[in-house]
Amino acid sequence: MKAQLGFTRRTFAIGVTGVLALLGLGGASRLVQEKPLTRPPGGQDEDDFIGACLRCEKCLEVCPAQVIVPATVEAGFLNTRTPTMNFKLGWCDYCKDYNGGSPKCVDVCPTAALKLAVDSTPENTIIGKAYIVKDWCLGWQGKGCRICLEQCPYDAITTDEYSRIRVKYDACNGCGRCEFVCVSLMSGSYTPGATDRAITIKPTQIVDFLLANEVNG
Ligand code: SF4
Ligand code: SF4
Ligand code: SF4
Repeated sequence: MKAQLGFTRRTFAIGVTGVLALLGLGGASRLVQEKPLTRPPGGQDEDDFIGACLRCEKCLEVCPAQVIVPATVEAGFLNTRTPTMNFKLGWCDYCKDYNGGSPKCVDVCPTAALKLAVDSTPENTIIGKAYIVKDWCLGWQGKGCRICLEQCPYDAITTDEYSRIRVKYDACNGCGRCEFVCVSLMSGSYTPGATDRAITIKPTQIVDFLLANEVNG
């Protein structure tokens, strides 16, 4: 019976070896299916990133915007201590005013876990995408807020025919400035049921899923 299935001691050993080889952490992330996180520029291929990142925290240390933080254990075993973006603390200007305009986090990374193409620009370096929870957004509810629209450096926020706030998906690179400045849940602003700011940056694949499934109406 074992011969029919091709399941011999030898093939079992090869299988185990294959799994162990896969347990370079990149492969493990595929097996474990950890939640994707927003990464610094150039770290958006989650499997490659998890496999290459040493958790050395050099990128955190050099970021002039101090927008990179270590992920906590709540983000999952493989994600723990990997760098993720916290846009409540700041936003990423791609080191426009530092280091000759070259992203410091990418330059300091010793393993190329963060890597960018030579022709990369802030416009084509996509950290993630902005996503609005409409029920929490003061601009969506007709309360006149336009702060994120006014402060987006890439003109990626607009209004629709009803003057409601909208993200221009293709123009957004996930810099995080909108989340940083959003007044929802700040300055005494309270929207019933809100647990976060109305606009947040999420990994592109998560925003694609939310938009495709119209989770937010
Ligand atoms: S590009 Fe610069 S500002 Fe942006 S996360 Fe990296 S070090 Fe920070
Ligand atoms: S919408 Fe937000 S994340 Fe996107 S480019 Fe504008 S400020 Fe940056
Ligand atoms: S700043 Fe926040 S509350 Fe105001 S319009 Fe933008 S997403 Fe909505």
